[in-house]
Amino acid sequence: MSALLPTYARADLIFESGQGAYLTTVSGERYLDFASGVAVTALGHAHPYLVKALGEQAEKVWHTSNLFRIAGQERLAERLCVETFADRVFFTNSGAEALECAIKAVRKYFSFNDKPERYRLITFEGAFHGRTLATIAAGGQEKHLQGFGPVVDGFDQMPLGDIDAVEAAIGEHTAGILIEPIQGEGGVRGCDWAFLRKLRALADDHELLLVFDEVQTGIGRTGKLFAYQWSGIEPDIMSLAKGIGSGFPLGACLLTEQASEGMTAGSHGSTFGGNPLAMAVGNAVLDIVLEPGFLDNVRETSLLLRQRLARIVDENPDVIEEVRGEGLLIGLKCHVPQQQVVSALVDEHLLTVAAGENVVRLLPPLIIGEAEIDEALKCVSRACAALRAASPLQK
Ligand SMILES: *Cc1c(COP(=O)(O)O)cnc(C)c1O
Repeated sequence: MSALLPTYARADLIFESGQGAYLTTVSGERYLDFASGVAVTALGHAHPYLVKALGEQAEKVWHTSNLFRIAGQERLAERLCVETFADRVFFTNSGAEALECAIKAVRKYFSFNDKPERYRLITFEGAFHGRTLATIAAGGQEKHLQGFGPVVDGFDQMPLGDIDAVEAAIGEHTAGILIEPIQGEGGVRGCDWAFLRKLRALADDHELLLVFDEVQTGIGRTGKLFAYQWSGIEPDIMSLAKGIGSGFPLGACLLTEQASEGMTAGSHGSTFGGNPLAMAVGNAVLDIVLEPGFLDNVRETSLLLRQRLARIVDENPDVIEEVRGEGLLIGLKCHVPQQQVVSALVDEHLLTVAAGENVVRLLPPLIIGEAEIDEALKCVSRACAALRAASPLQK
C-alpha cells in the first residue's frame, strides 16, 4: 500500500527523465508527451536555457521571503505589465492561489471604494479555477464541493455563452465576472471571443471588474501570449500559472492600477510566492516565448496539427466526433468514453489529458515540430484502430 493520500487516479508509469517533447520511464520506455503535465511544461523537458537559468540562480540564493525586495520579481512583473493590460503583479506558487488573489482583490476593491456589499462574482458552468475552498466554490462542480462543508459564499454560476443570463444575474451584490477565455478542464469549451467582448461591455455598463482565468490558456498556449489577446478586449484582473514556470511551480495575478486599489501593504501575502528560483525560471521562459517568431511558430504548428487531426477524425468518426480548441490547446471530442481513449493512447506511448464533455486534450509543448506531430498522429490512428478491434464501436 502506498503512503500517499489516494486523491489521484494515477497511471502506473514513473518517469525518470525528459528531453524536449519526450519522457522516459524508469524501465527505459519512451513516451511522446502531449500532456505536458497538464499544459505546464510549455518549453518541453530539460530545456537547456531553463536548466541553466535555474542552476545559476541555485548557486546564488534560493529564498529570502517577501520581507525583502526580489530583483527577479521586479523584472518579471515589469515585463508582464509591458506585454499586457496590467500595471501590478502578485506572484504565487500555483493557479488556485493566483485565483485566490484575484477574488480577494475584487472584493477589496469594492470594500475600499465604500461598497462592501458588492462581493459576488458571476462564474460559469463547467468552469475550473482550482481546489482551494474558494476556488471550488467558484468552479461550482458538485464532485469537487461534495463533503467539504459549507460552500464559500459569493459565486453565481451561469450557463457558458448566455449573455442574457449574465445580465439578469447582475444585482446589488455583484462585484465582477470571472471566466476562463477557453475552459480547459471543462472540455476545451469556449473560444467565443464575441462573448468575451459582450462581458466586457456588461462589466463596463455595470461598473464590474472583469477577471480572466488564463492559468491554462496563458503563456502562448493558444498561439498568442494570452488568449484574451484574440478577443480585442482586456480584463481588469488575470490569473496565470501552469506555463509561466514551464514546470517550476509559479503563478501570478495581474491587475490594472485601478483594480489593485485596496491591495495595500499587509492585505495579502505568500511565503514562497515569487521566490528567486521561480523568478529565474519565469524570466527565462519569457525570454524564449517573447523571441520574435516563437508565437508565429506555435500558430503554424497548431494549424498543421489540426489539419492532420481533421483527416484522422474523418477516418475514425466512430471514435472521434470533432476537433476543438485554439493554438496548442486542442480537444478531441470522443464518442468512446474519453478515459478509454486516453488509455489506448498511453498504450501507443502518447500522453494526453482527459477533460469534461468527453474530451481528450492534446497539450503538447509549444516547441514541437513536424516530426512530433507525425508521430502523435500515427499514435492516434493506431489507438482508434485498437479501440475498434477491442469492441465493435457504435456510431
Ligand atoms: C489548472 C487550473 C487552475 C488551478 O491551478 P493549480 O495550480 O492546480 O492550483 C485554475 N484555473 C485553471 C483555468 C486551470 O486550468
